[in-house]
This record gives sequence, structure tokens and C-alpha cells, in this order.
Amino acid sequence: MAVKRTPFIAGNWKMNLDHLQAIAFVQKLAWSLADAKHDFADAEVAVFPPFTDLRSVQTLVSADKLELAYGGQDVSAHDSGAYTGEISGAFLKALDAKYVIIGHSERRQYHGETDADINAKVLAAQRHDLVPVLCVGETAEDLEKHGASAVPVAQLRAALESVDASKEIVVAYEPVWAIGSGQAATPDQAQQVAAALRTVLVELLGEEAAQATRVLYGGSVKAANIASFLREPDVDGALVGGASLDIDEFSAIVRFKK
Ligand code: PGA
Repeated sequence: MAVKRTPFIAGNWKMNLDHLQAIAFVQKLAWSLADAKHDFADAEVAVFPPFTDLRSVQTLVSADKLELAYGGQDVSAHDSGAYTGEISGAFLKALDAKYVIIGHSERRQYHGETDADINAKVLAAQRHDLVPVLCVGETAEDLEKHGASAVPVAQLRAALESVDASKEIVVAYEPVWAIGSGQAATPDQAQQVAAALRTVLVELLGEEAAQATRVLYGGSVKAANIASFLREPDVDGALVGGASLDIDEFSAIVRFKK
């Protein structure tokens, strides 16, 4: 069954760009997106700025009616209360965020997030009608020991326990060894894992939801390699880190041609 999935290009800024820099960046990106509409791909584009930038991004997007989605880089598993430093899904929703990244390998690695934590965050996102961009991926060690798919598949199963299959979810396959390393997976490697993830999505969400779910690749995506990933049948877009901070590079990625 061939289902058309709109390509999704997501820029994860990580801990870069303050709110003033964010405004300047989004303005430039808006010009580029307006140009891209004429002759390029029909991708949905989203940025994931630090929390402190979101209100500025919202103001700009709504004032200029930009076709640019945005979201948080993380969300609390809790809805409100005595959780110092946490940001709830309700707060993100109040800023018109559409998406939220959950389970990025940097959160798993540096903040000790477990599969159970990530599952709780996915459920929190769904409670607030945010679309989770769920990150899964194996380390270099996992790859050597278990092959490419085993760890991402196990992470996917754990993260999606008890989810509402009627709500949109985005999955990002990000091999940890490819993040920020300049050494991207090959398109074929990305396709193999994306296909394995989709097979599990069929089991967890049902055929229709699984076919509608966008599976992204992330890890050293650049203008020079984006098209090769998007030619793969199960890769529906990219989660871009470093290259999303360079306006020329990110604009070129958004304008990919298959
Ligand atoms: P990278 O990061 O594009 O800099 O490799 C990707 C990510 O961490 O999402």
C-alpha cells in the first residue's frame, strides 16, 4: 500500500542561539522558505529552539504567518507541580508548539533518561496534543554487538507502550555514532533500520497508522547528503543538528531535490 508521507525537515538547535539570535535566524529562514515554495520540495519544516526562544519564535511565526512549525527539545513527564527546572507539555502547547523531541541520545546519555522516562514523556506529549518526535538509535558499541536495528527497535517498543495510536507520532532514527561526528550512516543503513522500525510500528499502532508515521534519519545530515536519504522508501525526512544552525546549509537542506 503506497501512502504519501509529507517529507519533514526538523532543525534541532540544541543549546544554541538565544532568543535574539533565534529571531534573526527565523527571519532569514522565512525568506528562504518563501523562495523554496516556488520550485522545490514540499517538505514540512520545523525548528526546535531552546525553551527560552520559543515565545519569540511564536510571535514571529504568528505575526508573519510563516509556514514554519516549532517545538521543544524535551518535555516533562508531569503536567504541573513541584518539579524545579521542568517544562510541561501544557506550557509548550500554550505557545502553539506542534512538536516535541523526546528521548534524544544526549538526554539519554547526559541526563540518564531511561526507556521508562521516555515512555512517560511520550504519554505526556500526547495528553497535551503535542506530536512527539521520538529519537531512537544505537551506539557504536551496540552496533558492533547487536547490529543496527536491535537497540532502536527495543527503544521504540518501550517508548510507545500504551500510546494512543490515533495520534500522530514521528520517529527519528539517530545512530549515536553518527551524531555530530561528520560520519553519517549510509542511505542503505538508514533505510534498513527505518524499515525495521516501520515493521514494529505496524505491530504497535496498526497498519494504517504505521504507514502514515514519518520516520526520519538523523546524524550528520547536510545539504550534500539529504537527497540520498530521502530517496529511500522508508526515510521520510531528517532531524538535523549542526547543519540546522547554518542558515545557508539549512536552507539548502530544506530545498532538497530527490
Ligand atoms: P547532527 O545532530 O546533525 O549535528 O549530527 C543530529 C541530532 O543530534 O539530532
